[in-house]
Amino acid sequence: MLGIVRAKGALLFDENGKEYIDGISSWYTCMFGHCNDFIIERVSKQLHQLDQVVFSGFTHEPAVKLSEELIKILPENQNKLFFSDNGSTATEIGIKMALQYHHNKGNKRNVMLSFEEGFHGDTFGSMSVSGLSVYNGAFEDFFIEVERIPVPTTENVDAILSTLEARLQNNNIAGFIYEPLVQGAAAMKMHNPDHLNSILRLLKEHNVLTIADEVMTGFGKTGKHFASDHIKTKPDIICLSKALTAGVAPMAITSCAQEVYHAFYSDEISKGLFHGHTYTANPLACSAALASIELLQSEEIQKNIQRIITSHQQFNDEIKNHPKVASTRQNGIIYALDLNVKMERYGSLRDKLFNHFMDNGVFLRPLGSTIYILAPFVTTEGQMQKIYSTIKDALEIV
Ligand SMILES: *Cc1c(COP(=O)(O)O)cnc(C)c1O
Repeated sequence: MLGIVRAKGALLFDENGKEYIDGISSWYTCMFGHCNDFIIERVSKQLHQLDQVVFSGFTHEPAVKLSEELIKILPENQNKLFFSDNGSTATEIGIKMALQYHHNKGNKRNVMLSFEEGFHGDTFGSMSVSGLSVYNGAFEDFFIEVERIPVPTTENVDAILSTLEARLQNNNIAGFIYEPLVQGAAAMKMHNPDHLNSILRLLKEHNVLTIADEVMTGFGKTGKHFASDHIKTKPDIICLSKALTAGVAPMAITSCAQEVYHAFYSDEISKGLFHGHTYTANPLACSAALASIELLQSEEIQKNIQRIITSHQQFNDEIKNHPKVASTRQNGIIYALDLNVKMERYGSLRDKLFNHFMDNGVFLRPLGSTIYILAPFVTTEGQMQKIYSTIKDALEIV
């Protein structure tokens, strides 16, 4: 364990004074840099005004303003928000919304659909729909009912669609949860927006609610505000967390379309969605999110995003034909390369790579034989070049 005592911009500082470029934005959160002055100022102002209040029977300005600003940038069919605390609760609520939506309408739909190798969190519903069983083996007997489909590729997409079409005749699938375009925990596995679109379109025709888990992809990482912005068919529900508050405070939001909300809007109390956390819509977290959304839309950040996209492309041209590189991929500021070397997800070669990066002052977390970069938008060109050169050196030691 390494003690981290301070952070600023793209840098982390350890207890010995050594600095590291945070090449994964502390798990995809602090996209505007650590301890961002603009966000700190907004949050500290809020801290003097209202720290916390019950979000039941009460409301407050930061939550109202955040809702207004977020709805402006979300895909246009999204217009209701449900607050919670973290990515797992965001997806848990999305799943509960899908199941209860059909329950409220008197439909017998109790199966959830998800992608193989998906990751949606660590609560029971979200574990159930996740497909990476290394994490969840001990709990599998207790899961909700889930069926999985492969992630689409040019080769398999037609087969997926015809199998799915036949499967949908049973009318018992409530919802489909998916990480749009990039599956983070599956080592940044990427798929094509048109393929995903054809799956979403088919599901919508059969009244299956679609739930985009944008906990990782949300807020600019794919070059647009949301990964769903690249896809024609819009989801019914979107799960957000991680970069929502720019790494300042834990918070999550599950948004939905009016039609989903409508199934819960009733004088009958049992039709409501009963899910609440103590810190729901915490005013400090809301003020951090508001400041982040303002930054995301700023010309400066949008320019930085384009700059990083271009430098990843240049780096890719340099290394894609290296004999140690099996394949590379990029979506927006997310870049990944697979090594031509067999490695276990948490094996000794993986540790050797990790130590090489840390010794050279770059914090990257290889997943198996995949090295990926998801650095803050404010990472300077010089810092980016340092990440690249450390990766190039790594290719010589594996
Ligand atoms: C991180 C992540 C989650 C879980 O979020 P937590 O805040 O860690 O509970 C869910 N879905 C995706 C796609 C994630 O990347």
